[in-house]
Amino acid sequence: MQGMMMNRPLSIIEILAYAAEVFPSGEVVSVRCEGDRHRQSYPETYARAAQLAHALTGLGIGHGDRVATLAWNGYRHLELYYGVSGMGAVCHTINPRLSAEQMLYIIGHAEDKLLFTDLTFVPLIEALKDHLPKNLRIVVMTDAAHMPDTSFDALCYEDLLAGQPMAFDWPDLDENTAAGLCYTSGTTGNPKGALYSHRSTVLHAMSVSLALRLSLAEGRRILPVVPLFHVNAWGLPYAAPLNGASLIFPGPALDGPSLFQLMDSERVFSAWGVPTVWLGLQGEIKAQGRNPEGFGEVVIGGSAAPRAMIEAFETSGVSVCHAWGMTEMSPVGTQGHLPAHLSDLPFKEQMDVKQLQGRRLFGVDLKITGEDGTRQPRDGTSVGELFVRGNTVVSGYFNNPEATEAAIDDEGWFGTGDIATITPEGFLSIQDRSKDLIKSGGEWISSIDIENIVMAHPGVASCAVIAIPHPKWDERPLLCVVPADKDAPPDKAELDALVLEHMASWQVPDAMELLDELPLTATGKVSKLTLRQTFADYVLPDAG
Ligand code: AMP
Repeated sequence: MQGMMMNRPLSIIEILAYAAEVFPSGEVVSVRCEGDRHRQSYPETYARAAQLAHALTGLGIGHGDRVATLAWNGYRHLELYYGVSGMGAVCHTINPRLSAEQMLYIIGHAEDKLLFTDLTFVPLIEALKDHLPKNLRIVVMTDAAHMPDTSFDALCYEDLLAGQPMAFDWPDLDENTAAGLCYTSGTTGNPKGALYSHRSTVLHAMSVSLALRLSLAEGRRILPVVPLFHVNAWGLPYAAPLNGASLIFPGPALDGPSLFQLMDSERVFSAWGVPTVWLGLQGEIKAQGRNPEGFGEVVIGGSAAPRAMIEAFETSGVSVCHAWGMTEMSPVGTQGHLPAHLSDLPFKEQMDVKQLQGRRLFGVDLKITGEDGTRQPRDGTSVGELFVRGNTVVSGYFNNPEATEAAIDDEGWFGTGDIATITPEGFLSIQDRSKDLIKSGGEWISSIDIENIVMAHPGVASCAVIAIPHPKWDERPLLCVVPADKDAPPDKAELDALVLEHMASWQVPDAMELLDELPLTATGKVSKLTLRQTFADYVLPDAG
C-alpha cells in the first residue's frame, strides 16, 4: 500500500524563495573585485536571480545547457547558482586554479554555452581565447563603468540584468534534473565531472543544516572561505539561506589580514575553509593578539586539520569542527562537533576526538573494506578503504563510463580512495589517501600522522611526508619541511624525537628536505603528486 501524501519535487530555487520570504533581513555581504564591499538582502538576491534567469533566456539558454562560472565568492556568483539551476540549466563552476590545459579540457567536456567571469580572470580568458570553443559567449561579472577592454566579445553582467522583470515563472522541474556540475582534480588523469541534481543538492543542504544546526542558526553570520568554485562551498550557498544565516563572501582577498579585517567588521561567527587559509588567519590573530570580534567557530575540512591548529583555535575560545567529504559527495560526509556527552572530558581527550573527522551526516552510509573486499569492523583500529553510499553521492561521472565503472563497487558503493578507521561510536579517522600511504616492509606508515606531529614543532611552518622507493623496505618516508624561520631551520634529530614520542621507531622519516614552500593543488591542498615528481630521483641515505 502506498502512502497518500503529495509529492512535490525538491527544487533549489525554493530555498532562496523561502529565505526571501521567511528571513528577509538575512544578508549577503561581498568583498568585490571592484574593490568595495557590497550588501544585499535575500529578497534582493531572489529578485536578481529572477532577472538573471530572464537574461539567460534572452541569450538562448535552455533546459540542460551548461553555464560556466570562473569567479570568487560573491553575490553575483550566488545569483548564478540559483538563477541558472532555477531555470533548468546547469551551473558549472570552474576552478581557476586548474592548469590552462585542464580548464580547456573541462570547458570542452562540459560543452559550456556561456562563461561568466570575474574581472580577475579576464586576463586568463585573454590568454586562452584562441583555444576556447568558438560558440562560447563570455559575460564579465561587473557593471558598465568597470567593463574592461577586451580583445574578445564580452557581455556585461549588470547590463544583462538591468530592466529585466524581478519575478520569473520558475519551471516545475523533475527533482532529478541536473543542477550543478563540478570537476574533481583530486584523482589521476583528466578531471572528472560530478553532476549534482536538484534533489541531491536540497537533501545535502538539509543534512548539513541538521548536522551543523548550531553553526547555521537564524541570524548567524557565516564566512565561506571555501570557494563557490570548489564543490559548492561545502553546501553553504544553500544551507545558510535555508536557515536564515547571513553569508559573508570574502571575494579575492583570502590572506590572513584581509580575512581578519572582514571577520572583525562583519562579526563573523562561523568560518569555513581548508587548513591552509587558517594558517594565515592564525598568523594575523597572533599579530593582533586577539580573535576577530564575534568569532566562535571554525569548520576545517578538505585536508586533515593539524592538531596544533585545532588546539590553537580551541585554546583561544574558537570551537573547531573538523569535517570530511569530497566533490563526489556534494561534498560533506562527516562533521566533528563534539557530542554533548563528551564535553566534560579533559581538554587533551577532547582534542583527541576533534582530531578525528567526525561522525556521518544523516543519509551518508560508510563502510570500510580490506584489500580482499571484506568489511572491516568498526573498532577504531581496523584499517580499510572507505566506501560511501547515499542520496548525495555520485552514481557515476558525467559522460565518463570508464571512470564510473572504476569508481562504483559491485554493491553500488562509491570508492573514496581514502584509507580510514571507524570507531565503535562512529567517528571516522582518515589515515591517508590510498596512494599517499607509505608501505614499508609490508606495513603502512601514515603520512598524515607524521605531518600532524611535526607540525606541532614551533620551527615548522608546514610540512609534507611522501614515500620514496627503497631497495629493502619498498618505500620509506621523506619529510619535506618549510621552516618557520629560514635562518634557523628545525633540527632533524629534534623532529625525530617528537615523532618517536607518538610513533614506532621504524615509522620515523629517513630523511628531511627543507623547502621554501610546498606545492599546492588547484584546491589549495599540498600536492603530493608534485612533491613525488620533484623527488623522483631522490636517494635515501641508506638506500645505496
Ligand atoms: P575534494 O574532492 O577535492 O574535496 O577532495 C576530497 C579528498 O580530500 C578526500 O577524499 C580526502 O582525501 C581529502 N579530505 C577532505 N577532507 C579531509 C579531512 N578532514 N581530513 C583528511 N582528508 C580530507
